[in-house]
Amino acid sequence: MSESTVTAGTTRAWSVTRPGPVEEDPLRFVERPVPVPGDDELLVHVRVCGVCRTDLHVTEGDLPVHRPGVTPGHEVVGVVAGFGAGVEGFAVGDRVGVAWLRHTDGGCAYCLRGAENLCPRSEYTGWDADGGYAEYTTVPAGFAYRLPGALDDVALAPLLCAGIIGYRALRRASLPPGGRLGLYGFGGSAHLCAQVALAEGATVHVLTRGTDARRLALDLGAASARDAYDLPPEPLDSAILFAPVGDLVPVALRALDRGGVLSVAGIHLSDVPPLRYETDLFYEKELRSVTSNTRADGREFLEKAALHGVRAKTHTYPLSRAPQALKDLKAGRFDGAAVLVNDLS
Ligand SMILES: [Zn+2]
Ligand SMILES: [Zn+2]
Repeated sequence: MSESTVTAGTTRAWSVTRPGPVEEDPLRFVERPVPVPGDDELLVHVRVCGVCRTDLHVTEGDLPVHRPGVTPGHEVVGVVAGFGAGVEGFAVGDRVGVAWLRHTDGGCAYCLRGAENLCPRSEYTGWDADGGYAEYTTVPAGFAYRLPGALDDVALAPLLCAGIIGYRALRRASLPPGGRLGLYGFGGSAHLCAQVALAEGATVHVLTRGTDARRLALDLGAASARDAYDLPPEPLDSAILFAPVGDLVPVALRALDRGGVLSVAGIHLSDVPPLRYETDLFYEKELRSVTSNTRADGREFLEKAALHGVRAKTHTYPLSRAPQALKDLKAGRFDGAAVLVNDLS
């Protein structure tokens, strides 16, 4: 199939027929008509799609079913293959990114004050609508990202979820220019966030359990890398908790200097133990959560990623072997981020 024309006929996609353990093959390869873009939507020919842990949660049923038979995948790099009559500013052949957030109502109090990440009527790619484990997908044009030219498809894909969320967490941590930043946990999101912070002049201290992760942190330019429960070598202006471990909240708060901010990047966190006001919060320390992201976060991050050459460590699979990628993700069989490469069209 040519990637610059809308093709009538059928196309192939992975579908979560009945959510369950990935070892029991809940993903089925189905033939469908090429999706028809809505009035405000782009039809995107998928070139690559990153594999996110959320895809595993959708496939296994840890997240409630929002769309029966959904196609997972929300780190899509593809090419515009068509669009609805109401779309302006895109042309067939444009390279675009499709990410997790795909709809907000635009009219609620949160949207109106620039916090569309909090919109109660938000919808998500690969959960509420079919995503990128497919030859073709669709996206509302207003939620598609124009992609910087410098990075290749595979390198870009993981930036569209792990990267954007890590960047949102960095912004929420209010790191002052040239400040001292602590990162608790050092996986996909954290190692992308660290690259932006370092490029912008921060001193980064990484606090994580894994010895490989500590080595990677030092290779990327972190000033120190210690165990998660150790104190960093100097007080922190800001910290981000990437590890989903509530026990680390007081640990990180105590590592902050006066007026410091801790942002918690994860969606899930084990229970936070009781905090001691005097050591953990007094002197105007702040504890903040991070919820999804706005489109502005995404655009800003992608610009900075291109400027600073931010790169994810990736591991590719053909799209036709998507279930294997999810199994390997679950079993921890690869380093870095898995990316599916469209080998079908
Ligand atoms: Zn994701
Ligand atoms: Zn809203």
